Amino acid sequence: MREPLDVVWSRPLPEGAQPSTVTVSQDAAGRWFVSLLCDDAVTPAPATTAVGIDAGITSLVTLSTGEKITNPRHERRDRARLAKAQREVSRKEKGSANRARARLKAAKVYARITDRRRDHLHKLTTRLVRENQTVVIEDLTVRNMVKNGRLARAISDAAWRDMRTMLEYKCAWYGRELVIVDRWFPSSKLCGACGTIRTKLPLNVREWTCECGVVHDRDVNAAKNILAAGLAVSACGDGVRPQRESSRTGRSSMKQEPQRATAGLPRL
Ligand SMILES: [Zn+2]
Repeated sequence: MREPLDVVWSRPLPEGAQPSTVTVSQDAAGRWFVSLLCDDAVTPAPATTAVGIDAGITSLVTLSTGEKITNPRHERRDRARLAKAQREVSRKEKGSANRARARLKAAKVYARITDRRRDHLHKLTTRLVRENQTVVIEDLTVRNMVKNGRLARAISDAAWRDMRTMLEYKCAWYGRELVIVDRWFPSSKLCGACGTIRTKLPLNVREWTCECGVVHDRDVNAAKNILAAGLAVSACGDGVRPQRESSRTGRSSMKQEPQRATAGLPRL
């Protein structure tokens, strides 16, 4: 067949761009992706500010500025649909055509969630990197947020991994510094005002008052502490056993991270 393909472009190619690499892939929902790698010079705008980012589940992320970024619209509803579709899969007989059909349907719902999430994350990370010279995040390779349910957690963990990857390459493009502070750093339990560390802070406690009298929004306090830790690391080179990501300036590519819409697909 030599018919033109019905393509949905995620964004226009830069003017005059000559793709050097073309990658074709297919996801579990049966969709085909073509990604084009092009060289494109990025001119970083000067920025002097720094931002700390706390990853959450109720909010997608909270910034040290106090801003809370919510999840994409419709995500809650789509999650409910996904849970239902996954139950359908488990009800069908193993190896049957019905099960394969149910599985594909669940994969499609999941792909929609991750697509929306990724689009949302692209806009957010581009904005954060454009606006700030230093971006500080926590290393959440392993974390313990069991109370929020397996599905919500799988999706938010996948989103966080995607966000970190985007921040890594976008910081490199724009000549920004990405500082990653150690995951054992007590970002939530540390009072940003007086330095006292609480022994306990259950996940359902969203706001707390320190002995020193300061009232904290849990996530904003965490984001501020992450920022402070990152700046300390950035200034003296160590402090909280960070993995420091140095950033590079210069030529960049338009490469998007590989389409992994279903890479983190929860058990079907
Ligand atoms: Zn305090």
